[in-house]
Amino acid sequence: MKVTEHFKNAQDTLFSFEILPPLKGQTLKGLFDHIEPLMEFKPPFIDVTYHREEYVYKKRENGLLEKRSIRKRPGTVGICAAIQNHFNVDTVPHLICGGFSKEETENALIDMNFLGIDNVLALRGDCVKSETRFVPEPDGHHYASELVAQIAGMNRGRYLDEEQADCCNTDFCIGVAGYPEKHFEAPNAKADLRWLKKKVDLGAEYIVTQMFFDNKKYFDFVASCREAGITVPIIPGLKPITTKTQLNLLPSLFHLEIPDDLASALENCKDNLEASQLGVEWAVQQSKELMQAGVPCLHFYSMGKSDAVRRIAEQLF
Ligand code: FAD
Repeated sequence: MKVTEHFKNAQDTLFSFEILPPLKGQTLKGLFDHIEPLMEFKPPFIDVTYHREEYVYKKRENGLLEKRSIRKRPGTVGICAAIQNHFNVDTVPHLICGGFSKEETENALIDMNFLGIDNVLALRGDCVKSETRFVPEPDGHHYASELVAQIAGMNRGRYLDEEQADCCNTDFCIGVAGYPEKHFEAPNAKADLRWLKKKVDLGAEYIVTQMFFDNKKYFDFVASCREAGITVPIIPGLKPITTKTQLNLLPSLFHLEIPDDLASALENCKDNLEASQLGVEWAVQQSKELMQAGVPCLHFYSMGKSDAVRRIAEQLF
């Protein structure tokens, strides 16, 4: 079922979460053990992130450098299908522009359709570590809006490979990312909002936000979106802090601010156990306020660990 149908059918705020595909060498069972404790809270859908390749240079025997690409967390689409079959829950594979030609994108979407996946989160992706800015494939997309346009086009029967138009019948519900604290590359919040609106105008049906720790940023963002004419559901993305190091790590990785009272409380935590307790309490308070405001769904970034998300869900759902 489509994510937007779940929103329409819901009586109360829904609970959902995002997981990472297992690292190469790990097992699907390990991933299922992580999902299992969260199923009690009846997530209508689970997101699975996409991780593109990184390039490494290895010296060959002849002394020349060989460029190799390595994907540490492959398998997003297959993992989505396995989760749907095992847990009988909808999944949302993330699909990125980076590393994909348009044809590869079309093939990935056809795979998803064959596997009974109804949803997709369309993203640009970040640049690979060896590059300083995002570089699309020669025949790939520069921005998530172009990817949204391709998926929406397929939903209307427009395939690159015209033969597919007769046998495939895709009807994906398309989600996109939004940034309450502005995407770090955007020159200003207004420009960022303009591009977000473009994604919605081209076919995105809902938005999931980057994590934030100050609800005012989310409420202001939603107000700006509504003012700009963006009417689709805007799902808050929440991440419980679980370690002291995340105080500096999260702002540098995700370009966001940790409110001062949370930052100083974290500094005073004597260890990660205390930090995690504080992180859970903070996320619970955030969640309660967001639920009172009537958000359709709370979406948790589990980052491969279910324990903190479970402790939050136990207090809310
Ligand atoms: P876009 O919407 O394309 O925006 C990128 C930047 O370009 C923004 O600054 C925007 O303002 C600007 N822009 C957009 N269109 C134009 C235009 N036409 N002209 C000029 N400027 C423009 N990354 C992964 O690799 N895998 C994942 O699974 C993943 N999941 C995510 C889930 C969520 C909920 C979020 C919030 C992020 C996720 N990311 C993921 C990270 C995401 O890929 C990065 O934040 C990336 O830098 C931007 O992606 P986007 O889809 O928001 O890009």
